[in-house]
Parts: sequence; C-alpha cells; structure tokens
Amino acid sequence: MSLLTFIKQILRRPISSGLLTVGIAVLLWYYLRADPSHAKPAVSRKMHIESIPMWEGSGNNYAYLVTDDKTKDAVIIDPANPSEVLPSLKKAVDGGAKITSIINTHHHHDHAGGNTELLKSYSVPIIGGKDCVKVTKTPSHGETFTIGESIKVKALHTPCHTQDSICYLFEDGEDRAVFTGDTLFIGGCGRFFEGTPEEMDKALNQTLASLPDDTKVYPGHEYTKGNVKFGIKVLQSGPVKKLQAFADSNKQAQGKFTIGDEKQHNVFMRLDDPTVVKFTGQTERVDVMSALREAKNSM
Ligand SMILES: [Zn+2]
Repeated sequence: MSLLTFIKQILRRPISSGLLTVGIAVLLWYYLRADPSHAKPAVSRKMHIESIPMWEGSGNNYAYLVTDDKTKDAVIIDPANPSEVLPSLKKAVDGGAKITSIINTHHHHDHAGGNTELLKSYSVPIIGGKDCVKVTKTPSHGETFTIGESIKVKALHTPCHTQDSICYLFEDGEDRAVFTGDTLFIGGCGRFFEGTPEEMDKALNQTLASLPDDTKVYPGHEYTKGNVKFGIKVLQSGPVKKLQAFADSNKQAQGKFTIGDEKQHNVFMRLDDPTVVKFTGQTERVDVMSALREAKNSM
C-alpha cells in the first residue's frame, strides 16, 4: 500500500484531527527514514575524486578535482581545457570548496595548457614539473605536502614520456590513489618522447610498482581499449582477457584498477614474463621494453 492510499483511508475515518496530524507526522518520519534515497551514507570518505573528461572522442584526457571532504580544500590536476573544467570548478566552489592549487603531471599542452586561463579565475600556486607553463613549485622526488587536513600527497619523479613527468600519490589513511599523467595508463604506458626504455622501466617497475598494491590508478587519458587490444596480442592471460572484457563494456576505467592489477594485466609491467619476452624476440630487459613500445607504436 502506498503512503498516499494509507493517508486517504485514515482521512475517511471519523477521528480527531489532532490525533490524525500526529499519526501522519509519525508515518512520514518512518517513511522517509526507511527510504534509502533519503539515508546518509554510512561511511564518509575523506578524499573525494571527481573525474572531468576532456576532448572526449579525440584526446580522451582526464582532469581530476580532488577534495578533502573535511576542510573542502581542493586541487585540480591537469585542467588543460578550461571550457570543460571551469563549470565543474564553479560548481564545487559554489558548494563550499576552496581551490588551493593546480597540479600538473607534465608540461604537454593537453595537460598543462590550461594553466594561464585557469589563473584568471583561480589565483593559486601551480605545482608541477619544471617545464610546465607558469609553474611555481616543482616538488623533489619523494617530497610530500598536504591538502586540507586529511590528504597526504607524495611526488614521484617518473622521467621518460617527458623529463618533467611527475606522478602523485594521494593518501587519506584508508584510500590511496596515484595520478599518473602519461607515464602509466590502464593496461599501457606513455610514449618515450624525452626518455629511454631504461627510464620507463624504472618509472613503471620500480617507482610505481613499489606502491601498495591497492593503490587506485588515475591516468591522464582513457586509452584502455587500444592498450588492451595490443596487450592481448602479446599475452593471452586471464587478467588481460578480464581487462579486455571490462573495456568492451565500460567507457571509463580510471580508478577502477590498482597498481596490483597493472602488475597482472599491463604487459609493460611484465618484462620478466616468458610469454612477453618471447613476443619481443629479445633477451635483455631493456630491449624487451623497447620492442614492446615499438610494436605498440606501429599498431
Ligand atoms: Zn603527454
């Protein structure tokens, strides 16, 4: 029976209006309490991550707005296309958020190219690699800083795609996320524009691989479909097939996979896997990395 039908039935009965009012109030209270859409979430997270897709269908970039739920201090990562980012920022600020800095993963235009425009609306420091437009602070490798009260950030230098590439590990005690720019993608990695295969091996398989396995990966682009199309040619394993199935039925993969998952389904993080080694026809680790990258480039 719906609430309305029940109230109508009560209204037909000859009872005192005072009792009726109390009855309806109690019923309403119970109804609203029981309806999950009115219920508050049981656990409130300290770190809130909002993905802002940019240039969907071409670059498929992501900017990320990360907010400390307690203080509402927030940072915007790689806000490269202001026309797509500013509405989200305005909404967040109207809701009480304070933008405290812009963070860049590297200097490329589709990551740091929005800085000058963003500064017109938000006069905040820019944290990023040395070649990023208007950068005010380049953290050293391993340097930490905080956002609000709850979020601890650690800068991880990962030179190769660009020499100024920095990944950022965000931790709020319960949750860990790493923003990887164009160094690590879900199921793949960036091109070696300014670096060597040795540097990408170090970035992926030492610096990022040493993060806790449960660290969620937030890359700079949505390239999962193309990456797994290559990955499955190299390695037809359960984890790669699983990623392929995910990519077939999901448009976005950011934050859905962890460093632990990448070690399983990302062929660039499996340079010791005999099947991967065999695919490249190489024997030296660095040559395996190089051959994988070249094979992906020519796909
Ligand atoms: Zn790039």
